[in-house]
Amino acid sequence: MKKINEAELWLLAGSQFLYGQEVLDAVAERAAEMADTFNASGHIPCKIVYKATVKTADGITNVIRAANADERCIGVVTWMHTFSPSKMWISGLLLLQKPYCHMHTQYNRGIPDREIDMNFMNLNQSAHGDREHGFIGARMRLPRKIAVGYWRDEALQKQLGSFARTCFGLDASRNLSVVRFGDNMRHVAVTEGDKVEAQIKFGWQVNTQPVGRLAEEVVRVADAEADELAAIYRERYRANTDDWDAVRYQAKEEIAIKRILESERAGAFSNTFEDLYGLEQLPGLATQRLMEQGYGYGGEGDWKTAALVHIVKMMTQGLTGGTSFMEDYTYDLTAGSELCLGAHMLEVCPSIAGDRPKIEVHPLGIGGKNPPARLVFEGKEGKAVLASLVDMGGRFRMIIHDIEAVRPVYEMPNLPVARVMWKPAPDLYTGAHAWILAGGAHHTVMSYDATADILLDLCEMLGIEAVHITADTTVENLKKELLFADIAWKIRF
Ligand code: MN
Repeated sequence: MKKINEAELWLLAGSQFLYGQEVLDAVAERAAEMADTFNASGHIPCKIVYKATVKTADGITNVIRAANADERCIGVVTWMHTFSPSKMWISGLLLLQKPYCHMHTQYNRGIPDREIDMNFMNLNQSAHGDREHGFIGARMRLPRKIAVGYWRDEALQKQLGSFARTCFGLDASRNLSVVRFGDNMRHVAVTEGDKVEAQIKFGWQVNTQPVGRLAEEVVRVADAEADELAAIYRERYRANTDDWDAVRYQAKEEIAIKRILESERAGAFSNTFEDLYGLEQLPGLATQRLMEQGYGYGGEGDWKTAALVHIVKMMTQGLTGGTSFMEDYTYDLTAGSELCLGAHMLEVCPSIAGDRPKIEVHPLGIGGKNPPARLVFEGKEGKAVLASLVDMGGRFRMIIHDIEAVRPVYEMPNLPVARVMWKPAPDLYTGAHAWILAGGAHHTVMSYDATADILLDLCEMLGIEAVHITADTTVENLKKELLFADIAWKIRF
């Protein structure tokens, strides 16, 4: 898997030949100083590379062609220290295939009262140079992030950091293969979708692999290899079972699934309890472990959520809050403290555990296989987001929900799965109403690391619809938003 700290954002300073070499030298020097400051700030997870001060249409087009072709370059940041006539940018921006951020800042924080003269004015023109540049982005209807603030301030640096994460997620998306073991769960609607459209929009190659291939691969795993992995389990987690045969079988499944994912160069997978032919257990612990290593997963054939889990994990690389496949399971409707209990049959990623996971073995009511080993834990508390991707027919919609996870308020000793409890914004009833109105799935990605901004920008770069449920959401306004969105997206496509 790619590393975000090896990826690059290219900083382009726009100018023109009008001002003379001295001004152009100053622009270049200051843009390089900005890049150094950003790299030292600790707020931007990838490298900012000052690439060029561009002065002509050819110069702009050439650097954008180079950005498109360079695998390390995940996005482009533009800034107009001086005035850069925007017709020069049209041919380049038409070719741009990487995400684009227009950074609006100026070199000087204040106006130097005694020193300001027309030389100063000729160099320090962001206030109008960036307006000329903003117009062409608007006129060309380009998806773009606009980052505004003073460049030495944390607030602007964090906007660039957020953009870097969006870019890295988009890069992961465009290079993502998803392996499906078996099809969708029979008759289920929300986990279905147009895989051709998904490949066009997101870049995902979603292809099936026979579950029989997985069953054969499991048989091929040597006992010694499985024992070695099981020893790692024992070290990392708390053993709460005597059934080490069941645990060892999950170790074989982890190794076998990983081998297939590696051979298919895949970053995500799905399976279904309805198609486990030749397997002794539904992968539980195995899937949880693979998610912990950065693979995406979606249950019951849910390839959309599987892909999104991987992308969010890539976007939040290096952060420690955690990201998992999740499902809204059941509610606590105690008046005044309404909460949602999230879990899955087995497959919740231990990266979101608030305590050290326990290895347990319990029978599974469905699927008709042997009792699977799984990790059982309580989720962390803290702010998080849920995201769900649905196919509306003709377009994809991502629904993003702000939530606050709490320590589970019950012990639930007989619940043999990992569990998280949360309060959705603005409250459970309004939040659930809004979610249902927007058609959000029961399956989601839950992330303590991703911000809504990262995901909203991702939707913009991908060219899909986004719905954000926040503390300010009202059902009345959301109904209007969805109605207008339906009209807008019909015109757009
Ligand atoms: Mn499910």
